[in-house]
Amino acid sequence: MLDAVLLALFLPCLGMSAIFIVYICLLWYATAHPTTGIIIKPVINTGLSPSQLQNLPTLTGKDLVAAPECAVCLDDISEEQSARVIPGCNHAFHLECADTWLSKHPLCPVCRAKLDPKLFIDSPQNQNPC
Ligand SMILES: [Zn+2]
Ligand SMILES: [Zn+2]
Repeated sequence: MLDAVLLALFLPCLGMSAIFIVYICLLWYATAHPTTGIIIKPVINTGLSPSQLQNLPTLTGKDLVAAPECAVCLDDISEEQSARVIPGCNHAFHLECADTWLSKHPLCPVCRAKLDPKLFIDSPQNQNPC
């Protein structure tokens, strides 16, 4: 009889302390990890600079051969609109859509091809179609 009473008191105490230990562990984990995440994030800034963007080929909609659709805004690239072509994979996007995307991510938004930094070396053959 006495054993049962002791057990009834002891078991809830054991349960409570187990929950308390788990809670302390979670609290420690939560406080220890976000700080390291915040330190790492600002370091990763992989987008292109405005001068690098200017070195990318620019066309108008009528120069595009295949599927003149911008994958960023999902709108068609009309004949008179300026378009940016990703060197290598030749995917095309509106000038503004491509620049907005590429200033944050150095990848093609369609096929995820990485833009090669060698493509941004200044070249004198920057012809203006006008
Ligand atoms: Zn667009
Ligand atoms: Zn692509």
